[in-house]
Amino acid sequence: MQEIFDVLIIGAGPAGLSAAIYLARSCLKVAVVEKIAPGGMALIIDNLENYPGFPDGIAGYELASKMTAQAKKFGTNMFSDEILEIAGTSGDFSVRGVDKTYRAKVILLSTGSKYEKLNILNEKELTGKGVSYCATCDGSFFRNQKVAVIGGGNSALQEALYLSRIASEVYLIHRRAAYRASKLLQQRVAGNLKVKPVLDSVATEIMGKDKVENLIIKNVKTGEESIIKLEGVFVAVGHSPNTAFCKKLLKMDEKGYILVEQSLETSIKGIFAAGDCRVTELRQVATAVGDGALVSESIDKFLQNS
Ligand code: NAP
Repeated sequence: MQEIFDVLIIGAGPAGLSAAIYLARSCLKVAVVEKIAPGGMALIIDNLENYPGFPDGIAGYELASKMTAQAKKFGTNMFSDEILEIAGTSGDFSVRGVDKTYRAKVILLSTGSKYEKLNILNEKELTGKGVSYCATCDGSFFRNQKVAVIGGGNSALQEALYLSRIASEVYLIHRRAAYRASKLLQQRVAGNLKVKPVLDSVATEIMGKDKVENLIIKNVKTGEESIIKLEGVFVAVGHSPNTAFCKKLLKMDEKGYILVEQSLETSIKGIFAAGDCRVTELRQVATAVGDGALVSESIDKFLQNS
């Protein structure tokens, strides 16, 4: 007879790990399934400066490994697998992965999000050959070289500042007249001589045969096109949720973020969602961890009443 977990958590980012800590500590039988590595998007944060308790900041991978150790300490079962389908009903869900099928009374979706693409010419072909979506992963390949970061949010400005420590010049290309990132990051960018703001501009094509050689940009106000000679292009234009596998099952918004009640229960009884994959106002490590705590309380109550 296959074992039935009280809670199966899909995704081991900060939301999933936080919920695992709370639920396993409440003596529930908890399993976490993660397809890449525990930590989610937090893994690639160079230095997390706004997570309370670490006045000098903490590396994302370090925080993730501490959270994983804490979840395991309380008895969480960790599996490396990719979930393809959820079937069954509350009390006995059957969750099919690539490697095996899991059974659980309750499911928590904490699948996080993935990078958005620009969808411009040669972006796909040159990914890994100078085009990247993660400065902390690939920045070191561009020592003393010229790179561009595309985007105007917190991620783009953080990536540009990180790359300014490695590259010779960093073009920070944004489609509007002002960045949308926090004031603090904007001030840091303004004071960094290596970061060259390129505003009101969109990238239209990346050029290069086997590696990135040039970037074509277009000024959206004047229509004028220009070429920047560079070696690296970092795309930081936001994220989209990892929810495609449960699209037909749950109610979501037009972008695929999962709609939840205040208790973080989804439109299906016994399935909850937490962290970046749900509809929410703010997506931070701290809010994901808060979601994990909140949803574990809801799940605990749900299990007691069912
Ligand atoms: P974001 O805030 O959604 O910003 C995406 C940026 O990319 C925007 O400036 C947007 O332009 C631009 N963009 C979107 N599609 C584009 C396209 N096709 N072509 C050109 N530009 C495009 O995404 P994010 O910066 O990745 O941040 C995601 C979440 O993580 C946010 O909640 C953010 O606060 C959080 N975060 C926080 C920190 C921190 O607190 N230190 C660090 C990183 C991320 P428009 O401005 O014109 O829309």
